[in-house]
Amino acid sequence: MDQVLVPLGQVKTLYGNIFRDRQLLRIFILSTTASIFTGWLYDYIFDDEESFYIRVKKTFFKYMKKIPSIKAKLDDEILRINNGFRKDVYSKTKHLDYYMQLPEKKMSKEEIMEVTNEYLNLGSYNWQGGRVSGSVYYSNAELVDLIKEVYAKTSYTNPLHPDVFPGICKMEAEVIRMVSDLFHGDENTCGTMTSGGTESIIMACKAYRDYGKEVRGIKKPEMVIPITAHSAFAKASLYLRIKVKYVPVDPITTKVDIKAMRKAISGNTIMLLGSAPNFPYGTMDDIESISELGVRYNVPVHVDSCLGGFLTIFMDEAGYPIPTCDFRLPGVMSISADTHKYGFAPKGTSVIMYRKLEYLHHQYTTTVDWPGGVYGSPTVSGSRAGGAIAACWATLLSFGKEGYVAATRDIVHTTKYIEKGLRRIEHIYVFGQPVTSVVAIGSTVFDIYRLQTYLSEKGWNLNILQFPSGIHLGVTHIHTQPGVADAFLNDVQNGVIEVMKDPTAPVIGKMAVYGYAQGIPDRSIVDEVTNCYLDAMYYTPRADDEKLLMLE
Ligand SMILES: *Cc1c(COP(=O)(O)O)cnc(C)c1O
Repeated sequence: MDQVLVPLGQVKTLYGNIFRDRQLLRIFILSTTASIFTGWLYDYIFDDEESFYIRVKKTFFKYMKKIPSIKAKLDDEILRINNGFRKDVYSKTKHLDYYMQLPEKKMSKEEIMEVTNEYLNLGSYNWQGGRVSGSVYYSNAELVDLIKEVYAKTSYTNPLHPDVFPGICKMEAEVIRMVSDLFHGDENTCGTMTSGGTESIIMACKAYRDYGKEVRGIKKPEMVIPITAHSAFAKASLYLRIKVKYVPVDPITTKVDIKAMRKAISGNTIMLLGSAPNFPYGTMDDIESISELGVRYNVPVHVDSCLGGFLTIFMDEAGYPIPTCDFRLPGVMSISADTHKYGFAPKGTSVIMYRKLEYLHHQYTTTVDWPGGVYGSPTVSGSRAGGAIAACWATLLSFGKEGYVAATRDIVHTTKYIEKGLRRIEHIYVFGQPVTSVVAIGSTVFDIYRLQTYLSEKGWNLNILQFPSGIHLGVTHIHTQPGVADAFLNDVQNGVIEVMKDPTAPVIGKMAVYGYAQGIPDRSIVDEVTNCYLDAMYYTPRADDEKLLMLE
């Protein structure tokens, strides 16, 4: 309803005239109540951010959980789960002291290094031996040595002060330029480094939201993305209040359904997304068709190459040609690629690139009226780690094209070898056609989480997928060491034999919770459990911790 400012005297006459008439008064009350209610109902049904169905469900569960008996039971459960997570950390670390207060006295370098080494040995997975999916992408003493030296010299630099550290800015500019070149950009291609893939994605979404608003007048921004898009897009939508329209994927190829994507485009669409490749299955959306949609409907297309970008750009030369998925496609306006994944740089860097400066300008934030001065910053961070930029820059130079092409060849070769081996194992299937380095498996015969339990007992740390249930291995350079791929295939084969002794047996142990969680209609309970899990990362001892051990 429009708000009209009426002088008060007039209101009085108006009121008197209308409401002397009882009949009119009743109609007025009825109609305002009705219109307020319809307004509320309208907002409720056509909420911008979530579908009607989801919100009815949420509201239902919200009120359910207010019923005292249900609430008490739920609180009890959450406490139990919370304690379970605490117990896990407690039992892993109880032989060590915790620093709960700043030490009074200075500690020596030797003391600090000793404790550092103790802490680093807390993990039980053999990642150096290739037992972990993704996570560490390259491990080589010579590279670490280089990083160590470069980082030591640059660790206190900050590109927030270009006048003080012009050399760090030069490094960042060179990284953007070299990477843009690899993705077939031209001299207009521009971008920034960020702290990681998630920040790159949030930045692209921010740029398109603001571009959409200012250039195309979009007030209720929506992004159209495949359901397989990385969760960073959901995060961006929550941070930036952009509605997400999820597009289904073909159940066999796991590529986004292009027809459905076209139908999801509206006047409010600020961007389209394709993953090259996606995280769950390592398959690649049809970027060419998405680019065509972008051109036809005049909507910018982002390509998420965070995971596999530093493989896709070398695959042609490595002898594994793939469909075009970079700036050669006219609709592709931006690409995110993680230097800290297959770029093999230490954690803390990624690159976001745009076809033209106009988009990048909508990524920047400038505040010009601050008493602290005119403040402009390219990304989320204010101060940024110059050391991370320098280490990334040094890594790129130390590999050179030949280094990356060789690494890509090894990684893709190993992935194809594993994929082929998995396809030969009965009762499991591979999701779609993996393009780079991720292979996901599922089963229609038994619950794949039972295989996961088996593999985890054998020391493998894989990624768990849901809707539908699956598991995946992200192959990194570490898995290219001799014997790793065969060890994996052997364990999968033996696991399947074991599970097939009783194919219909239920999942037990930790994975049962994961399977169960997919079936819980109240997703907010899954939220709460996830919060407990995150809380456990910040575990420090409490007086009653001994009691945790006595829990089942
Ligand atoms: C890892 C990943 C991201 C996010 O990167 P982070 O560096 O973990 O923030 C985005 N997209 C895909 C496909 C990824 O695999």
